[in-house]
Amino acid sequence: MYDAVIIGTGPAGLSTAINLKLYQKSFVWFGAKNYSDKVEKSEKIANYPGLGLISGADLNARFDAHMKEMELEITDKKVTNVMPMDDRLMVLADNEVYETKTLLLATGVMTAKSYEGEEELLGRGVSYCATCDGFLYKGKTIAVFCGAERYEREVDYLADLAEKVYLSAGYRDCRVDRPNVEKIGPIKGIKGGMKVEEIELHQGETIPVDGVFILRNAVAPGTLVPGLATEGPHITVDRMQKTNIPGVFAAGDCTGRPYQITKAVGEGNVAAHAMIEYLAETK
Ligand SMILES: Cc1cc2nc3c(=O)[nH]c(=O)nc-3n(C[C@H](O)[C@H](O)[C@H](O)COP(=O)(O)OP(=O)(O)OC[C@H]3O[C@@H](n4cnc5c(N)ncnc54)[C@H](O)[C@@H]3O)c2cc1C
Repeated sequence: MYDAVIIGTGPAGLSTAINLKLYQKSFVWFGAKNYSDKVEKSEKIANYPGLGLISGADLNARFDAHMKEMELEITDKKVTNVMPMDDRLMVLADNEVYETKTLLLATGVMTAKSYEGEEELLGRGVSYCATCDGFLYKGKTIAVFCGAERYEREVDYLADLAEKVYLSAGYRDCRVDRPNVEKIGPIKGIKGGMKVEEIELHQGETIPVDGVFILRNAVAPGTLVPGLATEGPHITVDRMQKTNIPGVFAAGDCTGRPYQITKAVGEGNVAAHAMIEYLAETK
């Protein structure tokens, strides 16, 4: 069992990872290998003490150098579910289960709203993970929302299995080009009873489907961790970044405004110290 699992490779997750490493804790760090798209997209950052005016790309390059210097490792997997148990947490990432004593949520804030019906039908035809659930849709008809280029590989995998894929891309120039993939406009909602039955598009059109895959960077925190206290899109934390679930901490944009790199780094640091304290207390 690990001392910690960190979800998120933005500034908050990086800050926690650095501090846990300094304290020689064992942990797995999940997220994209290129850290944070948001940092990468920042044209100029003017309020990071000591760095003057720096572009997001340059700051990410510095994060990368620091990470390599500390010999930190990123596990490029998406976490789709966390199950709190009595004395441990089970973290599900790309169909593999990781056991940990503590967990840091540094998942950023989800800018896109969930689809109507998404949470109700999760596990009943709605899935966040092609690798985990794709095989269930062999020869079937599915809809896929692809939120970023990095998920195109998963769309290809699903197209290999399903007979027909209706693909809604959340960005321009989606390169998926397969005979059984039909590109559609934005999805408005997902409908069904015991199982997914159809998707509705914004123009009012409905398409019957057997399942819906939603491939986006972030999963709403309350969906990721059942029972987690949230306020709107934000996770409720105290001054030590503790959530309402023992052993679960949160830092960065996911805990609320202001959405700032220095806040994320600071909260990541506080969370790491609180996690270390928790580990000592529950030994
Ligand atoms: C265009 C733009 C300009 C900005 N300019 C500035 C600025 O000048 N100064 C400033 O201070 N801030 C700026 N910001 C805000 C800043 O980028 C954010 O406050 C900061 O990135 C938050 O860091 P974070 O670690 O909380 O989350 P993020 O940087 O959002 O990182 C979250 C990480 O979690 C990962 N993740 C999420 N869910 C999962 C999951 N289920 N499994 C695995 N990984 C997951 C994501 O892939 C990502 O790597 C700007 C933001 C934007 C968009």
